[in-house]
Amino acid sequence: MTDAATLVAWDHRHLWHPFTQMTDWLADEPLVIAEAEGCTLVDTRGRRYLDGVSSLWCNVHGHRHPALDAALREQLGRVAHTTLLGLGNVPSIELAHALVAVAPPGLTRVFYSDAGATAVEAALRIALQYQQLRGETARTRFASLEEAYHGDTLGAVGVGWSETFHRFLAGAVTPAVRLTPPHVFRWQRGMDPEAALAAALDAADRTLATHGPTLAAVIVEPLVQGAAGMWIHPPAYLSALHALARRHGALFIADEVATGFGRTGRLFACQHAGVTPDLLCIAKGLSGGYLPLAATFATEEVFSAFLGPYEEFRAFFHGHTFTGNPLACAVGLASLRLFEEERTLERLAPKIARLRERLATDVAPLAHVGEVRQQGVMVGIELVADRGRRTPYPPAVRIGQRVVRAARTRGVVIRPLGNVIVLMPPLAITPAELDLLVDVARDSIRDATE
Ligand code: PMP
Repeated sequence: MTDAATLVAWDHRHLWHPFTQMTDWLADEPLVIAEAEGCTLVDTRGRRYLDGVSSLWCNVHGHRHPALDAALREQLGRVAHTTLLGLGNVPSIELAHALVAVAPPGLTRVFYSDAGATAVEAALRIALQYQQLRGETARTRFASLEEAYHGDTLGAVGVGWSETFHRFLAGAVTPAVRLTPPHVFRWQRGMDPEAALAAALDAADRTLATHGPTLAAVIVEPLVQGAAGMWIHPPAYLSALHALARRHGALFIADEVATGFGRTGRLFACQHAGVTPDLLCIAKGLSGGYLPLAATFATEEVFSAFLGPYEEFRAFFHGHTFTGNPLACAVGLASLRLFEEERTLERLAPKIARLRERLATDVAPLAHVGEVRQQGVMVGIELVADRGRRTPYPPAVRIGQRVVRAARTRGVVIRPLGNVIVLMPPLAITPAELDLLVDVARDSIRDATE
């Protein structure tokens, strides 16, 4: 392997990191990961870190899980990649069969792609074409939640607009109709959760009364708006929005890219509300967090609208070179099997409870913690300059970065969302590692804020 110092020099000279102010990056010694095992990352100098955000929310069963590694090696002995355009391949068929068996009932079709954004993009395009195919030609827009994030391709940016991330794209995207979620801390100050829910539904009702006939679909991150800062809404909001979309003739798209594969405590967040969306997007945890793999589920009702004689060109003319990649699908299938074999979700329940207890006793009381939000193993700790007034820290303070730095010196890798400290460990985290994660979060927040 190239030595550590040379790797740093080459990284600084040649790489452009995503979502990164490169001025800061170039002024600093980067942490370069060389290997990993379980929930531990190891850098090029042999230092070990707990993977506190699952390598950007995707690792599920730990790194280098023997069953996943074996599945990958076995598939490598057959073939690494062949196309799904005009051909089938074995792992993509087996995985689709297994996925449909565990998905919310009624989702029977799997359209593969390779990132969260591409799964969303496919869902948006399926919705648009579906509406056109059934003669609903005025349905050309989307509705989404305020501060939603659905990925960085242009279609996904339209429904997931964020001023900070996307302001240079304003002229190039079609903005979505916005719905305000019942987020008590940020939007509905002073309301209790029930009143906030009622107000949010009332507002959604009015918005859809106006825009309903122009909507191809409503798209939602079910239960947890991740990138917004782990904003949580109750299952009742999800089921009510679903019903509302239906009533107005719009499809309902669930973006489970972040919430899928156990992160919320159930395999899919929609299951907390008993909702079957028309389209459901998955990525990140689909391959256990091993390889780029994504999929968009559809109902048979949506799928069948695209059927017809070739010369009518009703087909979904959309796809990517590595769609249904056999290596990624083989590891995805092995990951799904692990959920059963290792009873992953059953064993996760007490960890979620332990995490809730520890956050309540150790983190929530800290002087600069404005709110702790948790759904399953998705946690957002919102830091505020003044707790009584809920005054945010100014961006120049880089409070999130300061906490992350402090955590790193204590052997934990996390990544903030602005002033929100995110904890999102792999589902396979051990109770001792979970305690370490909370201990380090607490101490690092104290260090950075006091
Ligand atoms: N949707 C949601 C809800 C996400 O959280 C993300 C990524 N964090 C995406 C879409 C985009 O996924 P990707 O980065 O794989 O394109």
